[in-house]
Amino acid sequence: MPPAETVDLLAIAAHRDDVEQTCGGTLLAMQARGWKTGILDLTRGESGTRGTTAEREAEANEAARILKVSVREALDLPDGNVQNTFENRMKIAAALRRLRPRVVILPYWEGRHPDHYTTATLGYEACFVSGLAKVDTGEAGAPHRPFKILYASLYADVRPTFAVDITPFVEERFQSLMAYRSQYATRAEGGGLFVPEEEIRERTFAMARHCGLLAGVRYAEPFVQKEIGLIDDLMMLPVASI
Ligand SMILES: [Zn+2]
Repeated sequence: MPPAETVDLLAIAAHRDDVEQTCGGTLLAMQARGWKTGILDLTRGESGTRGTTAEREAEANEAARILKVSVREALDLPDGNVQNTFENRMKIAAALRRLRPRVVILPYWEGRHPDHYTTATLGYEACFVSGLAKVDTGEAGAPHRPFKILYASLYADVRPTFAVDITPFVEERFQSLMAYRSQYATRAEGGGLFVPEEEIRERTFAMARHCGLLAGVRYAEPFVQKEIGLIDDLMMLPVASI
């Protein structure tokens, strides 16, 4: 993907295919509204059971095309060992100063996989230091702090703060996940570790449908924000109560 381009919305995730699972529909929905979107993957997937790093890069680029993002980059943090270190905060801050997003999406801060919950804190702290004028990331780029940080909570056992209606984009989002043929295509190798495509389809649609039901639409993706919501006009509040 061509660099030297800024984005309005940046999704930061530990692994290639995380964004596709947790907020790909939202990226499509925001792109359809005219916002420029991007993805920053922290690792390159070298520890995966299936597929080479090169194969996964090609798949990630295909997924990026389906998600219509302007930019997709991958850092070189070790897959399976994402740590919140000074060096890693600087790597992410350098990307933030270059891409200059107003809104950043991070994974939720609790979860099963350490890379996911570590990325939440690492990403937040990188957003903070990226705004400090005296911090030198070692790369060009004026200080920049995103205005808003959101946490994609699809896999978290937590009540979302809000949801994004992804009904028109749910099929494309699924296709972006299926772009990872080495991971999700029905194959013998890897055995019981990998679930067949049909089951992934059922699972992703069921989760989006469940979130949609909570929000009064067909399919939706859930998010948590730490701030409270601010409303000007009570008459414009969406989602019926009864
Ligand atoms: Zn992951």
